[in-house]
Amino acid sequence: MDSTVAEPFAWMHELDHEQVVYCHNKELGLKAIIAIHDTTLGPALGGCRFYDYGSEADALKDVLRLSRGMTYKAAVAGLDLGGGKAVIMGDPATKTDAMMRAFGRHVASLGGRYITAEDMNTNEHDMNTIRRETEWVTGVSKHIGGSGDPGPSTAFGVFQGVRACLEVVYGSSDVRGRTIAIQGVGSVGFQLARHLHEGGAKLVYSDVNDRNIARAMESFGGQVVDGKDFWATECDVLAPCAIGGVVHERNIGSIRAPIIAGSANNVLEDEARDSVLLTEQQITYAPDYVINAGGLMAVSAELNGWPHEKAMEDAAGIFDTVKRVLNKATSAGITTLAASDALAEERIANAASLQRMRLP
Ligand code: NAD
Repeated sequence: MDSTVAEPFAWMHELDHEQVVYCHNKELGLKAIIAIHDTTLGPALGGCRFYDYGSEADALKDVLRLSRGMTYKAAVAGLDLGGGKAVIMGDPATKTDAMMRAFGRHVASLGGRYITAEDMNTNEHDMNTIRRETEWVTGVSKHIGGSGDPGPSTAFGVFQGVRACLEVVYGSSDVRGRTIAIQGVGSVGFQLARHLHEGGAKLVYSDVNDRNIARAMESFGGQVVDGKDFWATECDVLAPCAIGGVVHERNIGSIRAPIIAGSANNVLEDEARDSVLLTEQQITYAPDYVINAGGLMAVSAELNGWPHEKAMEDAAGIFDTVKRVLNKATSAGITTLAASDALAEERIANAASLQRMRLP
């Protein structure tokens, strides 16, 4: 047998995926992969990323990793959703509506086992286009029943997570007088700055986009720090809200803040290694997928036809969830990441055993 065919099954096996679907439309130039990791808790939901991968193997690895992450995120968030993700392979500049509709037909063929959403290089317009082919899409425009930009809900959840970290580390969740340094004041970072400013915190910003820095300074005041000095900022909380892979063995030693809590996905360059290094340095890390689940909560409310207030109520619950994760890590002597993974796995295992009990 051709070993290049067997390998993807080995990867599926390794990360424990239920289903991987290859989607192809030669005429429209569509090449996509949909990965369904786990549907124990509900249909697999996760964004569709449009990216020019170096190889199909790279695309497959990415979609397998990302879909597994969604399973854990939904599980810890207490949502009745499983984990899935899709990638469309190609230069985002070649994206067409016809291609997105073809992708939508593949999503439709799964009958609701996978629900798509926005991700890197896909947007609200693309979701509206997919909606013409299938109901299994979220993040569509408000005027066609969508929940709109998830940024504000994500930011509100991150704000709650920051407060939870402060309470565990300092004994008070009050942000007044605390200094919070935010890396990236875009959609989420700006709204987070608003909550912190309203709560009386002192703000420090770092961003590669001068206009976004100016907008934050004009709105809330504060200080600006150069990107290269960000991680050594003297502050109470470092809030990464820009890109992933920003915390690693090369900068952990220079971190002076006792807390890292922000919205960015995949904050740690190497999760296993860096979560241990942070614990050794007594730096409290709020796991990314726990603290940034507010957007997923908004999308879940949209799916269920619940009002936006329900999503905000769920996002407020991130305060308790982050505290639970941090306390579990301390009492079990493990990293915060290991603690949140354990909570997710426990919830899925409980649901799976209930499902088995229902079998004749
Ligand atoms: P955004 O593009 O609106 O904002 C990102 C900001 O980071 C921009 O201002 C950009 O200029 C800045 N930036 C980029 N590279 C930088 C760098 N090297 N140093 C400093 N600043 C830099 O994105 P967003 O929607 O606010 O998302 C921010 C992060 O949160 C991302 O990692 C995203 O995956 C994650 N996240 C977002 C949501 C959401 O609801 N938008 C949900 C979950 C996770």
